[in-house]
Amino acid sequence: MNRVAIAIDLGGTDIKGALLDREGRLHSPRRVPTGEDRSPAKVVDRLADLIDGLQKTAGGAAFGVGIGVPGGVYPDSKKISQAPNFPGWYDVDLVSPLMQKTGLPVAIDNDANVAGLGEFEFGAGKAVDSMVLITLGTGIGGGIILDGRIWRGQWGMAGEIGHITIEPEGVLCGCGNRGCIEAYASGPALVRQAKEALAREPGAPLLQLAGGDPDRITPKLIYDAAKQGCPVSRAVFEKASRYLGNMMASVLNLLNVPLFVIGGGVSASFDLLYEPMRDEIRRRAYRIPGENVAIQRAILGNDAGMIGAGMLAFAELTPAEGR
Ligand SMILES: [Zn+2]
Repeated sequence: MNRVAIAIDLGGTDIKGALLDREGRLHSPRRVPTGEDRSPAKVVDRLADLIDGLQKTAGGAAFGVGIGVPGGVYPDSKKISQAPNFPGWYDVDLVSPLMQKTGLPVAIDNDANVAGLGEFEFGAGKAVDSMVLITLGTGIGGGIILDGRIWRGQWGMAGEIGHITIEPEGVLCGCGNRGCIEAYASGPALVRQAKEALAREPGAPLLQLAGGDPDRITPKLIYDAAKQGCPVSRAVFEKASRYLGNMMASVLNLLNVPLFVIGGGVSASFDLLYEPMRDEIRRRAYRIPGENVAIQRAILGNDAGMIGAGMLAFAELTPAEGR
């Protein structure tokens, strides 16, 4: 086997791992449950087992490990500053114990950052030098790539696009702030707004599609209803897309990137999101970037995290092989 990196995506539910070659292909993917006991020592044990298994599969050919984690990572110490799905994780060092256990060098970064790197190298961002990935799912995340490199910021928390304020006195967000875009355009936010609208318009087709039970409403169901012409569902997507476009216009004025890539589960509704988003960017951003910026759907899907993590290993552990 050619030179490969071990690529790991540490998630709140599963740990996914695979081998990644320099052409962006994943080999021998596998996944194990993250587990109930989330003490750093236990998670290190599970990661080390997964890494050892993949190194055996590679016949010892893997040169190093790249890991994406669902939390902030300090750019200098590489410690995890905090991770919402891992209670009590503050200033956690995964790198040193993993290097000791596996004998391999380890590169680590935030999961949205590495997903951005994956899309940049092998996905929707292949043709540009800079881009911003926006992931729309249970939350809203972001990965900023500037001149071919992840922009991490001083404390490793750059790209927290979901917590840009769009309504100063708006809905309370999980982060403690009011009016974050995440509280208006994430999957759960779409469902909340659809339920609010149905309370006013109980005759809408969306409720029939949900079998009369508002608790069965999902972002996918709202999408299906909108495609069938349900006015409530169309309005939910229209409003969320305009909020997104509003936020993106500000990001565009700040960074002037040529490309936004939209990923995450809600990006399955890209065709409904696109026009209002585009329109809002045109209205609010400076004319030249506003007219010329491209907006594309992510193409690596759930593999973006692993592909980006492996690519991080290539970029940081074998610098000459980066793009
Ligand atoms: Zn927030």
